[in-house]
Amino acid sequence: MRLVLLGPPGAGKGTQSQRLSTHFGIPQLSTGDMLRAAVAAQTPIGRAAKAVMEEGGLVSDEIVTGIVGERLDAADAAAGFILDGFPRTIAQADALESVLRAKGPRLDAVIELVVDPEILVRRMTARVTDTLARGEPVRRDDNPEAFSRRLAAYAAETAPLTRYYAERNLLRPIDGMRPVDEVFDEITRALDASASARAPKNGEA
Ligand code: AMP
Repeated sequence: MRLVLLGPPGAGKGTQSQRLSTHFGIPQLSTGDMLRAAVAAQTPIGRAAKAVMEEGGLVSDEIVTGIVGERLDAADAAAGFILDGFPRTIAQADALESVLRAKGPRLDAVIELVVDPEILVRRMTARVTDTLARGEPVRRDDNPEAFSRRLAAYAAETAPLTRYYAERNLLRPIDGMRPVDEVFDEITRALDASASARAPKNGEA
């Protein structure tokens, strides 16, 4: 299963990707996590990405497609993967298409978590409160200014990908406003429906 999870910040991509990863036994590839690890390790990529991430902007396509390309070469991604937070621009989607074409397998589906932008800010605030209550560190880009830049970056750069993937008949919009379990069930139902639509019918090769 080769999936992309699309949706604005705070839509629940991380939560659903983790569940899908456990369900299908395939890795969750989060470019946000990879970039945060690079920042923490102070690698050259981390140093280049740090300020942009803290402000809520997008890291360059070149950097991000480079790290995803390398990650897709790892053995654990051979049987499938869930891309969480990538692609975020048309250029990244084109790069992903060429990487996959070179390897053979195509994407199975692009799940779009559709949410009301107004409640995203509330979700972000609740997430920060929970994280602080657990005594864990809060993401530096989970503050109102950076968050509104992340929403704006999504609207300008990433939202056009819904059309891109709809044209390729890969887009599966899912109502992301419902409880986590219901969203997960709806995703797996949509994936089953896509799989049976693709399966050869009786009498077909
Ligand atoms: P996320 O954890 O997916 O919300 O990503 C956190 C931040 O990492 C984003 O706000 C961007 O600054 C950066 N980032 C993650 N994925 C990408 C991507 N595919 N393209 C550009 N920047 C990204």
